[in-house]
Amino acid sequence: MTNTDYEVIIIGGGPAGMSAALVLGRSRIKTLVLNTESARNMVTTHSHGFLTRDGVHPGEILNIAKEQLLKYQAVTYLREGAIGLDTSDNGFLVSTPSGSYQSKRVVLAAGQKDHIEQLGIPGLAETYGKSTYPCPFCDGFERADKKLAVFGPASAAPHFAKVIGHWSKDVIVFTHGEKVQDEALVESLKLNRIELIEQEIQQLIHHDGMLHEVVLKDGTTIAREGGFLPDTKTTESVDFAEKLNIPTIEGHFGRPSYEVDENLESTVKGLFIIGDSRVGFGGVARSVADGSTVGAAITHQIIEDRWII
Ligand SMILES: Cc1cc2nc3c(=O)[nH]c(=O)nc-3n(C[C@H](O)[C@H](O)[C@H](O)COP(=O)(O)OP(=O)(O)OC[C@H]3O[C@@H](n4cnc5c(N)ncnc54)[C@H](O)[C@@H]3O)c2cc1C
Repeated sequence: MTNTDYEVIIIGGGPAGMSAALVLGRSRIKTLVLNTESARNMVTTHSHGFLTRDGVHPGEILNIAKEQLLKYQAVTYLREGAIGLDTSDNGFLVSTPSGSYQSKRVVLAAGQKDHIEQLGIPGLAETYGKSTYPCPFCDGFERADKKLAVFGPASAAPHFAKVIGHWSKDVIVFTHGEKVQDEALVESLKLNRIELIEQEIQQLIHHDGMLHEVVLKDGTTIAREGGFLPDTKTTESVDFAEKLNIPTIEGHFGRPSYEVDENLESTVKGLFIIGDSRVGFGGVARSVADGSTVGAAITHQIIEDRWII
């Protein structure tokens, strides 16, 4: 049987979804949050850069959010995954393994997944979130002035190394068998004292995820204490927006971003896309901002729906 109790269904309970739920709960809008509790940053030991929660484990942010939401009776939180999102006469039908829910409005906040093993560097996945990271603003400070690596494709790693060079003067770019074709780029790396190693990597040596050495195919070992990845082979956690043919535009750093209006409502009326689901990689603070924006926007829409004229 389809449950029609909710005015809003939020798919995903990371910083974006939980922030939307908080604002909706405070507006007494009947809201269902579906969350699988497997956010991409759960691999990391500390989350940084979000005011008042700098340096805590991402699980702690989730636990505090869950605890604080309990106070708002309009919000129901289920540890359950959405497996389908379809449009219906009355809005949307969201299915889960245990049933289905219908609602006029859906907030898509399921985030993204990283597939580090697809980079083909043995040992790299084990270091991800412990000593190698996707974002210098998140983890550059803790790795500052260390021996750093940038692991990535020839098209992106040299450019990323320029940014990482802000945090350390000892940066080596590893393209894992790919040649950097742009001679001017190679020259600029040299001028800025960033070493480029194009040879294939045999494996990374680490201790409990803490990077220690990079072993090249010819057996050479190079000491490194951390690294950054410009490309983590990211995919969306769910393909719902893609299946509904929501158009994308070029976003931050040239990444595709779903087309939404100022309320973060997509081209399908009633479907809002927020956080990493919208932009690919936005960080905790930006996701919270998206959630807050959409919570207020939906409340305003519902007030308008109810106003008699
Ligand atoms: C290694 C690493 C380190 C990072 N460090 C930082 C940092 O220090 N500071 C920072 O600001 N950012 C950091 N980030 C980025 C940050 O994790 C994201 O930008 C942020 O979590 C995005 O929030 P979100 O709510 O949009 O998505 P997420 O946090 O990914 O949350 C999405 C939620 O949706 C759930 N979900 C997925 N599929 C479904 C489904 N089908 N049904 C229901 N629920 C579903 C997931 O389980 C998850 O709980 C880091 C990322 C990584 C990978």
